[in-house]
Amino acid sequence: MNRAGDPLIRVQRVSFSYRVREGKSIPVLHDVSFEVRAGEHVAVIGHNGSGKSTLAKHLNGLLVPDAGDVLVDGMNTRDRRLLREIRKRVGMVFQHPDNQMVATIVEDDVAFGLENLGVPEEEMHRRVDEALRMVGMEAYRHRPPHQLSGGQKQRVAIAGVLAMRPRCIVLDEATSMLDSYGRQELMEVIRRLHGEGIAIVSITHHMQEVALADRVLVMEAGRVVMEGTPREVFRQRDRLLELQLDVPGAARVAALVHAARPDFREDRILASEVVE
Ligand code: ADP
Repeated sequence: MNRAGDPLIRVQRVSFSYRVREGKSIPVLHDVSFEVRAGEHVAVIGHNGSGKSTLAKHLNGLLVPDAGDVLVDGMNTRDRRLLREIRKRVGMVFQHPDNQMVATIVEDDVAFGLENLGVPEEEMHRRVDEALRMVGMEAYRHRPPHQLSGGQKQRVAIAGVLAMRPRCIVLDEATSMLDSYGRQELMEVIRRLHGEGIAIVSITHHMQEVALADRVLVMEAGRVVMEGTPREVFRQRDRLLELQLDVPGAARVAALVHAARPDFREDRILASEVVE
C-alpha cells in the first residue's frame, strides 16, 4: 500500500510520437521524467500544443510511451493486463463535461464504471453515495445530467471517478469550459479531495488553480522545462513570459487565492513574494 508522500506515479524518460498517415509521426514528448507522490497536488502548465494532454493520457495507460516507462503504484502501463488495476488507481476527467455523461440520471452515471467492474449492488450504492457526497451533488442524484450546469456536470464526472476509489485524479483542463462560478465550485471539490489524501494532477491555464498546487510542472515543446512550488515558479516571471504564459502579479495572485480558498495560509504560497 502506498503511503502519503511515496511515489504513486513515476514517469521515467518518456518519449512519444503520434503516428499519422503514410508512416509519418509527430514527436510530442521528449524524455519526460517526474513523479507524483501519494496525496500530492501537481499542476501542469504550458501553452497550447506543448504536450500536456498527451502527457496526461500516459498517466493511466490511455497512451503508452514509445520509449521510457510510466509506473503506477509500481505497475507498468505497458502491461495491458494491469490496465484495469491502473485505471482504478488513476481516474481522468476531461475538458468537455457533456462528452463524459453516459447515463440518463446522475446516480446511474456515477455507478457506470462500478457496474462494468461487476461491483455488488450494495457496495455500489455505498460508493455512489460516498462519491456524490464528496462532490456535493447528493441532492441531484435523480436528475438528468442535461439539466445540470457545466460545473455540476464536471462534479458528477469526478464522482464517477471517485466511485472507483482512485489514488489519483487527473484533470485535463476540466475547468476550462466552465464559467468562474463553475470553476470555483470545482476548485472547492479539488481542495476537498486533496484534503482526503487523493493525489491530483491538474492541467490548467488558470493561475488561481496553479497557486493551490503543491508543485508545478511547466511544459514547453514536449519537455518539462521548469518544476517547483507555485512560489518558485511564479518568481521566474521573465522565463514564464518567454514561454508565453500569463503570470498574474502578486496582488492578483493573493486575491485569486483568497477568493478560492479563504482559509489558505499565505505562507504556503507567499503570494506577496511572488513578483516584484
Ligand atoms: P497541449 O495539451 O499542451 O495543448 P497536446 O498534447 O494536446 O498539447 O498536443 C501536443 C501536440 O500533439 C500538438 O502538436 C498536437 O497537434 C499533437 N496531437 C495531439 N493529439 C494528436 C493526435 N491524436 N494525433 C496527432 N497529433 C496529435
